[in-house]
Amino acid sequence: MPLPIFDFVIVGAGSAGCVLASRLTEDPSIRVLLLEAGPADDAPGIRIPAMTTSLFGSEVDWGYELDQQAPNYQGTAVYPRGRTLGGSSSINMMIYIRGNRADFDEWAASSCLGWDYNSVLPYFVRAEHNSRLAGPLHGTDGPLHVEDRPFTHELSAAWVEAAVAWGLPRNDDFNGAAQTGAGEYQVTCHGGRRWSAADAYLRPALDRPNLTIKTGAHVTRILFDGTRAVGVEYLRDGTSESARVGSEVLLSGGSINSPQLLMLSGVGPADHLRSHGIPVLADLPGVGRNLHDHTFTPLVWETRDHPDLLELATPENMAAWQNDGSGPFASNAGETGGYLSSQGGDLPDVQFIIGPTAFVHHGRTQLEMPNITTVISPTRPASRGQVTLRSADPFAAPSIDPRYFTEPGDLAVAVSGLWAALDIASQGPLARHLRGLRLPAGATKADSTDLAEHARRQSQTSYHPVGTCAMGTHDHAVVDPELKVRGIDGLRVIDASVMPVITRGNTNAPTIMIAEKAAELIKA
Ligand SMILES: Cc1cc2nc3c(=O)[nH]c(=O)nc-3n(C[C@H](O)[C@H](O)[C@H](O)COP(=O)(O)OP(=O)(O)OC[C@H]3O[C@@H](n4cnc5c(N)ncnc54)[C@H](O)[C@@H]3O)c2cc1C
Repeated sequence: MPLPIFDFVIVGAGSAGCVLASRLTEDPSIRVLLLEAGPADDAPGIRIPAMTTSLFGSEVDWGYELDQQAPNYQGTAVYPRGRTLGGSSSINMMIYIRGNRADFDEWAASSCLGWDYNSVLPYFVRAEHNSRLAGPLHGTDGPLHVEDRPFTHELSAAWVEAAVAWGLPRNDDFNGAAQTGAGEYQVTCHGGRRWSAADAYLRPALDRPNLTIKTGAHVTRILFDGTRAVGVEYLRDGTSESARVGSEVLLSGGSINSPQLLMLSGVGPADHLRSHGIPVLADLPGVGRNLHDHTFTPLVWETRDHPDLLELATPENMAAWQNDGSGPFASNAGETGGYLSSQGGDLPDVQFIIGPTAFVHHGRTQLEMPNITTVISPTRPASRGQVTLRSADPFAAPSIDPRYFTEPGDLAVAVSGLWAALDIASQGPLARHLRGLRLPAGATKADSTDLAEHARRQSQTSYHPVGTCAMGTHDHAVVDPELKVRGIDGLRVIDASVMPVITRGNTNAPTIMIAEKAAELIKA
């Protein structure tokens, strides 16, 4: 039996894979197969913004755990990644942030020609369908809905007033002219409902005869003829199947799974592959290296006069959300926040995210209510870790070792952010609603050593791994600026893993931008 031939096979229907599948099949002559390991995205809770944490540990989460970390980091090991149509955009917190324009200029300066801010801006704009903001920096007719949340808790709004009273400028567009300041986050939602990459890009393309989508299809290996990728092997319903491509294999498995699949297929650091008995096709030492991620350190206060978001989870409020997407169930939990340059200058080194509930250990640690959380996230961590294979078994989870806080400067920035958050909370507009700190208890008498210890113990991932198949032209680059795997033909990596350095902010929008630009590079 001849194997089916497609022009492109896309591995992974996440933020990037959905964009590629949609954009490539706009041309009816291009035949695309999209393979997704997880199930369809009909899990209860995906659409309801306030239900995000209920998806962690479910069948739409890979359920990864970090390796045992050095004493620098003793926070939680839980490491959610989306495993369904839409990928992590189906389980994320929906904050719409592109990053700082300097991030992209720095990419370009570090050998990623064509990825400077002016070159990538058109792809952000093309993707976007903003309900409030318009050109030249915003798009209003793209597939990705971005809106002001229909519900913002009074205390999240009070934090913004407190931050402004403390001295941060008010900012009503973190993706506009300036990133620094305090304000409400816009979200990738439409009418109070999550708007994932699958909603934006895949659903409108479902009827195209040139697009085949298979869920429950776990790709186990990329197939090669010499050093040319010619297809993939995948397991579906317990049966091993193959698909051949006429043009290219596009790897969009995300920052953990893309390097894993490359290594399983013989592309990666030669010594590491040999140690698992995997024949080496291309010795690319950068595969899986350069893992970095934002950390997320919470401060939690007990509040006095407003119900906690969890206390607002009533049948009446659910009925309101079902009716028109309004009310507390439209909350993405990280409602307001902002950016601070703790050392001065224009480039922020701290991001704040504010939630009107206790958000500790992925929402799994329950505290007495009501509460408000300020999360501190250093925007440009210097610590670097790695993703490596535990085994040559494609179904075994890889080893994930982000080495948080191994660069002491990262902990110092986190502590600066914690001090600033404590100061902001002492300002009248917020202070009048607070009873006192619950986590860490007694921090009003804390010193920097106590705050550093708090960061080491209570931090978690901010869910933004990048860099493990970094773009560039240097020896540790995995893909070139056209996202082609170096030393291999017919294979590109297109997802968050190609970011050479993390952006100053949440990573969904820049991943979608990367895929928009890649689709155009491929079509050209
Ligand atoms: C809990 C959480 C909260 C977040 N909050 C925000 C936020 O508020 N704002 C923001 O901007 N960003 C946020 N992010 C980050 C953002 O969602 C990701 O950076 C982005 O979705 C990454 O896109 P990707 O295409 O690289 O990977 P993913 O979207 O993770 O897609 C990878 C896809 O590939 C599939 N796959 C992997 N391996 C295989 C295989 N072998 N065979 C077949 N399929 C495979 C996966 O199942 C998945 O569907 C969050 C992420 C998480 C997990």
